[in-house]
Amino acid sequence: MEEINVVNNLVLDIDLSTGKTSSIEISHKDRREYLGGKGLATKLLFEHIKTGIDPLSPDNIIVMMTGPTAGTPSPAGGRFTVMCKSPLTGIFASSYVGGKFGISLKKSGYDGLMVRGRSDKQVYISIDNDKVTIKDASDSWGMDTYDFQEVHKQEGDWVVIGPAGENLVRFAVIASDKRMAGRCGLGAVMGSKNLKGIVAKGAKKIKVADPEKFKKALKVAQKKVLAHDNTGRRLRELGTPQNVRAFGTTSIMPVRNFSKAKFDKMEDISAEKIRDNHKVKNHGCPGCPIKCGRIGKFKDKELISPEYETIALGLDSISTGNAIGFAMELTEKGMLESDLKFGDSSKIAKTIEDITYRRGLGNDLAEGVKRLSQKYGGEDFAAHVKGLEIAGYDPRGCTGQGLGYATANCGATHLSGSTHAVEVDPLGGGAKGYLSPHGTKAKAHFVVFFQNIMEMTNSAIFCLQTQYPFLEENPAYKYTPAPILRFVMRNLPAIAVATTDLSDYCALLSGLMGYKISRKELSKVGERVFNLERYMNCREGISRKDDTLPKRMLEDVSEEGWAPIELDKMLAQYYKLRGWDENGQPKEKVMNKLGIIC
Ligand code: SF4
Repeated sequence: MEEINVVNNLVLDIDLSTGKTSSIEISHKDRREYLGGKGLATKLLFEHIKTGIDPLSPDNIIVMMTGPTAGTPSPAGGRFTVMCKSPLTGIFASSYVGGKFGISLKKSGYDGLMVRGRSDKQVYISIDNDKVTIKDASDSWGMDTYDFQEVHKQEGDWVVIGPAGENLVRFAVIASDKRMAGRCGLGAVMGSKNLKGIVAKGAKKIKVADPEKFKKALKVAQKKVLAHDNTGRRLRELGTPQNVRAFGTTSIMPVRNFSKAKFDKMEDISAEKIRDNHKVKNHGCPGCPIKCGRIGKFKDKELISPEYETIALGLDSISTGNAIGFAMELTEKGMLESDLKFGDSSKIAKTIEDITYRRGLGNDLAEGVKRLSQKYGGEDFAAHVKGLEIAGYDPRGCTGQGLGYATANCGATHLSGSTHAVEVDPLGGGAKGYLSPHGTKAKAHFVVFFQNIMEMTNSAIFCLQTQYPFLEENPAYKYTPAPILRFVMRNLPAIAVATTDLSDYCALLSGLMGYKISRKELSKVGERVFNLERYMNCREGISRKDDTLPKRMLEDVSEEGWAPIELDKMLAQYYKLRGWDENGQPKEKVMNKLGIIC
């Protein structure tokens, strides 16, 4: 069996307009500077996509990219990146997903792929080792992602869209097995290319470059994953819905379209209740020891159980929940005629179907909250940043997360840096409220730090959940009394972030790649990727005016536990730390320091 040394350094390039396929080589320099996953996806789009294109036109390019960890026993490393220009926000967006597709793609001889153009008929792409074929998918158009993968499972491992992607719903997902690349409407971009799915099958054996070094690092890392209360116990027992009980008591859970801070029926949707009532069992990304996903029995059917963000917003995805919640408030205020009402769930299932098939009001909801507010009004309480609906953490109860939403490259995601995790003190949720939930102190430092860490882990690829054990199970963190940590993090944030131990990431990656990767090199990868994407977004017209939050969040602090978000003050500190000018554009000096040649 042919062996590869962790990576192939080859990306498959498919043009659906011409049917031609070719490949692109990844240089050693790019591999070292961008690692893989999000990093290389960003670099490839920077080099190949034109500025100002319509995301739903043939000019958009979808990149799917694995990291060095894919196909190895690295903890929580079985995921891959999907990146392109988003039809929801009009700027660049990436999403991360498990499922076996990424590993099979790597085993076929490619670390990633790019799809450009548009097919004139409905197709899927088959990658069977080095044989790439574009095949007819007209018989399968209209099938949902589960049925489709079940029917076609003998062909290999899939990424696939359902009817929402086919109908260009601006927040449609891409599925891989039972996992979803969920944010920013990447599924609609596949739909716009008439591409139902991509299947991969590969026979290559992936081996790490320095097995001894890797084995040693892996042993330490696995011990920490199991020792940490979040990854070793809570996520395995309860999944991300553990946050319902934890955050539901801290004024950051979004209730009634972010107009309230508390939900009196919170217990009914808690992870504990779902576990007890629906015979929940674990599922997750390939090879992950945590397995944070859940499968439960609902009316005798085994279904994927909701994640925290789903539950927090009442529905099956962040954007869908936000769109319906916004429509409910518009209706309540007499700005929209509909039968959607807060507290009445009877119309939700039909509304989701209407969104999927763009029927009636569903056609407007399928456009997302920003476009809905442009049509019906309510811009002040439309919960989005840069067009992306806000995740399940209300920034009035965690102001650093607010700065994170305002500056995240793709809009209001918590996945570009989970600053709320050090700002709030959920009931046994793992964080200990090291920063104050309110105010501006140290917030810019930690937002920059977490954003860069996320870019690095999303390039490597390690799931974000590894940040708990890898950052918190180290002696300096674990054995320092909480009041001292609190003092240092609040008053000496530059020292706190500069001394955070990243040794597990360095050791695992050094073993995987076979060359020494220092903390400095790794931190620079994260900073480089974040700045390159910002630069690309600035070329699309993004500037300081877009680094903001909805008016409601900046002005309404009427609920207990909410405080004003001093966004201007935090932004000024943030731009300075980033080395950006007052308009939010990365300065030449920082681009040169990071080796980004524009
Ligand atoms: S922790 Fe959850 S999301 Fe992360 S790799 Fe494991 S199963 Fe996947």
